[in-house]
Amino acid sequence: MIDAAEALRLILERARRLSPETVRVEDAAGRVLAGGIAATEDLPPFDNSAMDGYAARSADLAGATEAAPVELAERDVLRAGDFPSASVGPGEAVRIMTGAPVPPGADCVVMVERTRPAGAGRVAILRAPRAGDHIRRAGEDVRKGTPLLTDGAQLRPFEVALLAAQGRAEVAVTRRPRVGVLATGDELAAAGAPLAPGKIRNSNGPALVAALRRRGYEVRDGGIVRDDLDAIREKIRDLLGWADVLLVSGGVSVGDFDFCKAALEDAGVREVFWKVAIKPGKPLFFGLGRDRLVFGLPGNPVSVLVCFDEFVRPALEGLEGKSAGHTGFHLAGTVVNDYPKETDRQRYLFCEVTREGGGFLVRIVRPQGSAMIGMACRANALAVHPAGGAPLRRGDVVDFRWLK
Ligand code: AMP
Ligand code: MG
Repeated sequence: MIDAAEALRLILERARRLSPETVRVEDAAGRVLAGGIAATEDLPPFDNSAMDGYAARSADLAGATEAAPVELAERDVLRAGDFPSASVGPGEAVRIMTGAPVPPGADCVVMVERTRPAGAGRVAILRAPRAGDHIRRAGEDVRKGTPLLTDGAQLRPFEVALLAAQGRAEVAVTRRPRVGVLATGDELAAAGAPLAPGKIRNSNGPALVAALRRRGYEVRDGGIVRDDLDAIREKIRDLLGWADVLLVSGGVSVGDFDFCKAALEDAGVREVFWKVAIKPGKPLFFGLGRDRLVFGLPGNPVSVLVCFDEFVRPALEGLEGKSAGHTGFHLAGTVVNDYPKETDRQRYLFCEVTREGGGFLVRIVRPQGSAMIGMACRANALAVHPAGGAPLRRGDVVDFRWLK
């Protein structure tokens, strides 16, 4: 059995980036940039005022105070979008609005709150400015020709604003993976269908579809297929004709009716690994069907979502070409209750984490179980306890991440 880190490595090695496509910038949030972009324009594009006030010459205003204001002749009004027609001479000021270009001659803007009207066509300045005050210089934020965004950046509304500010209407991003989902099991009933004795609801199907859709992936839900080798194989073949990634839940363990591995093999999927030293999630299967990534996920509803977050999500991000690797467990907190279990496999523990002082307190939910969805919903975080570690005791520090 391989460990979790090795499993992730084997997956990411095979998650080769999909082709780029062009989307409108307002549709690009959450997408991954395909190819670096250099700035084609200075930002801001011209020197402009950061305040509503007066553009003036700082040399005129040395020593100006509330008690001894300096009066200037008010020459003009510049609104945002205007272009100055004249320069500001000695003893002069131009009334200026936020975002309007700073007229030549002026080297500062005095905010309107530091001024007072001083009769017809005159303004009194109540405080001495410094040269450069309240002027946003051309190119101070982004300089034309410099790198703007790097290949593999995940685009947020901030990056969309940056691209739009550069005059771009479209941007190249990596195509999003298409993902097929299949739930297997004779016991499964769809929502709304009568629940015959011995049957349970299919929760993995909707959970996986939801996990994918909220990230904007295109999903084809293959529904429920019974534990029948031929039926599973045909569904797998069908979905593999369309999908970049296939998720099959249930039937990958060692039970008498666990046909998924055999069905995948029949459908031409080559095994990369089967079984990972983790709890929950041990029977995880990963293989390749031509170029497609195929995951056989354990049937238990908690295991399926742990495996999704730990292994499938990084794979999908790899296909999208996201530059940063799997963020993994990047927070640490102090355990407040014992968890006296041996750890021959890496354990994922559902926890209630609270913030206390400068750190986090981690309460491990008891009992834990790979079929206990109610338990999982009472947790807000997932801690990881490495294989071979001693049983957890109050006061130990564990790594965790939020469950989102
Ligand atoms: P299996 O991996 O097929 O042995 O299934 C392990 C456990 O998960 C069994 O208790 C199944 O009934 C349950 N299970 C399998 N598939 C689903 C599903 N789609 N929704 C909810 N539970 C499931
Ligand atoms: Mg089963």
